[in-house]
Amino acid sequence: MKIFCLAASVAALAIAAPSSGRDLPVVDSTTRPGDAFYQYVNGAWLKGTEIPADRSSMSDGAVLSEQADRRTREIIQQTAQDRNSTADARKIADFYNAFMDEASIEKLGLGPLDTRLREIAAIRDRKTLSRVLGGQLRADVDALNNTEFYTGNLFGLWVAQDLDDPTRYAPFLMQGGLGMPDRDYYLDDAPATTAIRAKYTPHLAKVLTLANIKDADAKAKRIFDLEKRMAAVHATRADSNDVTKANNHWSRKDFDSKAPGLDWQEFFAAAGLGGQSTFIVWHPGAVTGLSALVASQPLETWKDYLTVRLIERASTYLPKAFVDERFEFYSKTLSGTPKPRDRWKRGIAATNVALGDAVGKLYAARYFTPAEKARAEAMVHNLIAAFSRRIDQLAWMQPETKARAKAKLAVLKIGVGYPDHWIDYSSLVIRSDDAFGNAQRAELFETQRNLAKLGKPVDRSEWVMTPQTVNAVNLPVMNAMNFPAAILQPPYFDPKRPAVMDYGATGATIGHEISHSFDDQGAQFDATGKLHNWWQPQDFAHFKEASQKLAKQYDQYRPFPDLALNGQQVLSENIADRAGLAVTYDAWRLSLNGKVAPVVDGFSGDQQFFMSFVQSWRTKEREAALRQQVIIDGHAPAEYRADTVRNLDAWYEAFGVKPGEKLYLAPDQRVRIW
Ligand SMILES: [Zn+2]
Repeated sequence: MKIFCLAASVAALAIAAPSSGRDLPVVDSTTRPGDAFYQYVNGAWLKGTEIPADRSSMSDGAVLSEQADRRTREIIQQTAQDRNSTADARKIADFYNAFMDEASIEKLGLGPLDTRLREIAAIRDRKTLSRVLGGQLRADVDALNNTEFYTGNLFGLWVAQDLDDPTRYAPFLMQGGLGMPDRDYYLDDAPATTAIRAKYTPHLAKVLTLANIKDADAKAKRIFDLEKRMAAVHATRADSNDVTKANNHWSRKDFDSKAPGLDWQEFFAAAGLGGQSTFIVWHPGAVTGLSALVASQPLETWKDYLTVRLIERASTYLPKAFVDERFEFYSKTLSGTPKPRDRWKRGIAATNVALGDAVGKLYAARYFTPAEKARAEAMVHNLIAAFSRRIDQLAWMQPETKARAKAKLAVLKIGVGYPDHWIDYSSLVIRSDDAFGNAQRAELFETQRNLAKLGKPVDRSEWVMTPQTVNAVNLPVMNAMNFPAAILQPPYFDPKRPAVMDYGATGATIGHEISHSFDDQGAQFDATGKLHNWWQPQDFAHFKEASQKLAKQYDQYRPFPDLALNGQQVLSENIADRAGLAVTYDAWRLSLNGKVAPVVDGFSGDQQFFMSFVQSWRTKEREAALRQQVIIDGHAPAEYRADTVRNLDAWYEAFGVKPGEKLYLAPDQRVRIW
């Protein structure tokens, strides 16, 4: 469970690096804090900020991502010139340079896809189709850590701890296969969604035409029809969140009886999972439904579908015409972004995906000082201590449940800045003249690296984010957390300003991640990571009731007249926000040791705390991107996340918020969970 949605962690364009020492914002004095606190704190910024043309949104996280990209480019350029650079550094440079060599990519055309296109053309029956589908399975999804539910392949693989036995790894199978980001894009009839859908079939036809495939329009229609059938059997995004619906252990034989259609023998053999006897099927309805489509839909449609999916997945590494068409649909139509990102930024992003740890090792050594690592670790420990005190003080919780919650808190494995050990890329072949081949081999390397974990002891020190990622994450089954170097930077974390500002921003992020261990999903895992109810029944009932109140609070928010938030879909993140903010507030108060915080610019310490929190959420987002976030993301849009201040009594006192003001909640309506 990470802190940001996808949009905030994409690289930015031409934004100056953030300056150190930022403190309080210029407030919008025409707005009452109790009516619109986000506007009150961020009004001046919202008015003065434009979203760069190559972006779908703008935020402090975007500025930091931009900074991380520029630093990464410097690292790549310097290592490329260094004759004595390490094997990893050479791989980074070769990968990046191959991606940047547009002339060669143009000359090769679709040549790099030849082998795979021939493989699809040679499909002659369900058996060979199943083999091709199995050969495409990649470790490209992650249900509980990075919460990545999308794959364009028919299924996605996640290798993680078995929810019933966290001492061993298990392969998780998840739904996939759609070209658009979620089932709602195929099935929902809201006008904005219908308008996007209308552009999708022409996009597919264009891709086929660019690849010189005949009869493109008719084929595109049939491909859309197949994907729509897939969407109809897909689980919703809210259901994907529900771990109790996901913990389905299937034996190898169960697939034949519960999900007939696909030749599972061929599929698993081609996927490198032929020897595996049990799986966890996250989306059982979809696995059954998608497998049935393999049998019921015409072979020729499957072949056209696989061709289009292959080209789409490869398009980042193909000639400009394919890159442009991908941009037109996925960035312009789906996210409202007017202009593509510069190629070098796409090159950095691709290098980070392929060789993230190799880049991260160089990045962390250069940009994260031991002093900042120590300062961040101290803050994490403060927050854990504050959480522990909160557990002690919960009036509604029985001592037995408290003891179990504290046991869970005690085992949390905290990672700050960068991991203790790094991925070994020595078996990955990277060539300076093979952009697409490099990406393919890197995907396969990552999949094999994950498959190799099966049967080995669980490594709780493994990270799921790179140090150069502007984000943070809780791994609820591992009972571990990663706080990458790139988010522990000004303006979120800054040694040159009053501590209260850091508590409001980074403290809240740390508190958020700790709280994920105790959100509606995290709270179902015990201290060992086992999915198992460790609560006294009356305590769990209280917890569920309070959670439902929070889900209802978020159901009320409507970014657009025709689109409301789904409180259940964003519940885990909102519990983490609500609890994390309360915990960091406590930790900050404790850090004062009974002293009164200094007044700055006329604002009290408490006011500064809440202003820093809400300032850290300032975000501008294009309409299409905001709609996409509401549909597919587990995180509510930034403004509504910031609005969780209305659940804290201290906020009412700090700003004198009164009944009748728009954000006001009567004390019994404020959600109190942890
Ligand atoms: Zn989160």
